[in-house]
Amino acid sequence: MKISRVSVYQVDLPLKEGNYNWSGGKSVSVFDSTIVKIETDEGITGWGEVCPLGPFYLPAFGQGARAGIFELEDVIIGANPLELGKLNRNMDIALKGHPYVKSAIDMACWDILGKKAGLPCCELMGGRYGEDFALYRAISQESPEEMAMKIATYRKEGYRRFQLKVGCSDVDLDIARIHAAASELESGDILIADANTGWLKHEALRVCRGVKDIDVYIEQPCATYEECLAVRQHWDGPFVLDESIDSLTPLIQGHNDLAMDVINIKISKFGGLTKAKQARDLGVELGLGMTIEDSWGGDIITAAISHLAHSTVPGNLFTSTDFNSYVTVSTAHGAPQRIDGRMSASKEPGLGVEPIPEVLGDSLFVLE
Ligand code: MG
Repeated sequence: MKISRVSVYQVDLPLKEGNYNWSGGKSVSVFDSTIVKIETDEGITGWGEVCPLGPFYLPAFGQGARAGIFELEDVIIGANPLELGKLNRNMDIALKGHPYVKSAIDMACWDILGKKAGLPCCELMGGRYGEDFALYRAISQESPEEMAMKIATYRKEGYRRFQLKVGCSDVDLDIARIHAAASELESGDILIADANTGWLKHEALRVCRGVKDIDVYIEQPCATYEECLAVRQHWDGPFVLDESIDSLTPLIQGHNDLAMDVINIKISKFGGLTKAKQARDLGVELGLGMTIEDSWGGDIITAAISHLAHSTVPGNLFTSTDFNSYVTVSTAHGAPQRIDGRMSASKEPGLGVEPIPEVLGDSLFVLE
């Protein structure tokens, strides 16, 4: 099988809540999503998506994804989409770094592999565990009272795991946010305070002291791995690393240093489903908890997340994300939908999504 044509689309995904705020005053109201359609000489078509969390979360941005895919034309056209290891290797040789650029291409090739095999991607990724899996809800950074209120609102939609966006330089305000949120929790709920690299070390240490009586996970308090490790050594609760874990090398180092209990695997941060699955499988062997998600996305990314999450050993799957329920635009039929705070992967071959042409509009460019 050979890739004969790649069409690249751009779709705006506005947020239902209006905007999404996290550490350091960063905020996004409309996400810039890139969707790719890969056609093959055997008539099988695959779909992929990449959607950075604005241009200032990871070193990634919407225009960059599209420019990078254009740059990879010679590697992609004519390649066998079923040979995922070889294709990823060749993309890495042709374009150093920029993992997010390769994510949508790799995702679309998984869709093709599933359709060729007649199997849902999750079955090719190790097998489907159980009926469904648990989701968390991200709580955008607002006043302590508003954040606590949103926990009550989203619990009514079935969520039981809540990730608070903290990480501002007003340490007392962040401590108040965590206390207010904790006061809303019911038995069985899980609370995560994600600072998204927003605290300096001394600020993180003050927060840890201020919330030491609360059952809360602390996620990525500081910018560097070393700062996070130092904070971790003064915190006796569970600890999550996200931004610092972007490939296998820091994952292995973090495990050896006992730097974290849970890691966050975002598909595009690792460079696609192939590499995210590698990290996921290693995480299972190392006994880590894992959040399986992406930086953001619509229906296609939510479908890809669902296949990777549904094929993760349940004991190791900490949480996952239903990004398509955060945004106002639906880009595909067949995408998984949240039911009572949980989600499951499609039983159709591949990713199980059928994009809607009227929503995608005309392609921005075509490689062939
Ligand atoms: Mg995070």
